[in-house]
Amino acid sequence: MQSVSKVMGNITMAFKVLDTFECECGQVVELIETPILGGPQKGQLMQYKKNCRCEDLKILEKIRQDNREQAKRKVTKIFDLHSLINPKLKEATFGSFRRDLPENTPEQNQSLSAAYFKATEYVKTFKLEEPKNLLFQGTFGNGKSHLAVSIAKAIRDKGYSVIFISTPKLLTKIRSTYNKNSEQTELDVIRHIELADLVVFDDIGAESTNEGWAMQKLFEVFDQRSGKHNVFTTNLSSQEFEAKKDLKRIFSRLMQDTEPVVINAKDYRKRHLKKAVSS
Ligand SMILES: [Zn+2]
Repeated sequence: MQSVSKVMGNITMAFKVLDTFECECGQVVELIETPILGGPQKGQLMQYKKNCRCEDLKILEKIRQDNREQAKRKVTKIFDLHSLINPKLKEATFGSFRRDLPENTPEQNQSLSAAYFKATEYVKTFKLEEPKNLLFQGTFGNGKSHLAVSIAKAIRDKGYSVIFISTPKLLTKIRSTYNKNSEQTELDVIRHIELADLVVFDDIGAESTNEGWAMQKLFEVFDQRSGKHNVFTTNLSSQEFEAKKDLKRIFSRLMQDTEPVVINAKDYRKRHLKKAVSS
């Protein structure tokens, strides 16, 4: 049997540094050539990169990728499970938003462009630690819900938990939990809304929701969302909000830390909204 020092001596002699270079993993790596010590390939030369971290980084990157995909699945699940969204709005994206409708006046198209810009800016500058609210206001069918859905999807795709809610549907759902056969409680419905990084409340003040109970509920829900990111849309003008006591209370709650974006509206509305915001 050979002594240990003799074996080590043989290895040292056969051990050759072929090259030293900075590897793509960032390490200074030695390319080593050395004979294989045992097994069927004994005696053959093999090469390896000493200090190389490429394999480790590949494994780490794979773990990160898996985590990202898991997070994405999670936020997609939250969005799909808890959103209350009208079917025809489901496919809306920034890409399908029209800002150049031939039937519009140049001013109206300008208003659409400005709203589009606000919406994309909101997505670009979205930071959890700097909560911001947007209120899209304008008459029925002018694209505000389309923009709100686009925002929701884009923020979700950034990995944040987002819920899009048709406000009338939310109230119907809450009301349905009062039924003694209901599997969900009101708390079940509201808890997810409270926890989400962003909630879009679409169609606030729609006809069926203007009663006292509904207004009280909405006020509670909005209150829970204060200090977080929210996007609101409404068909109502500022005057319509001001006309009823309950609505007025909701409106002043909504406008805290909220930037209004008026789409396709006449000047007097804009002026009035600005006045309402600054007062
Ligand atoms: Zn390397």
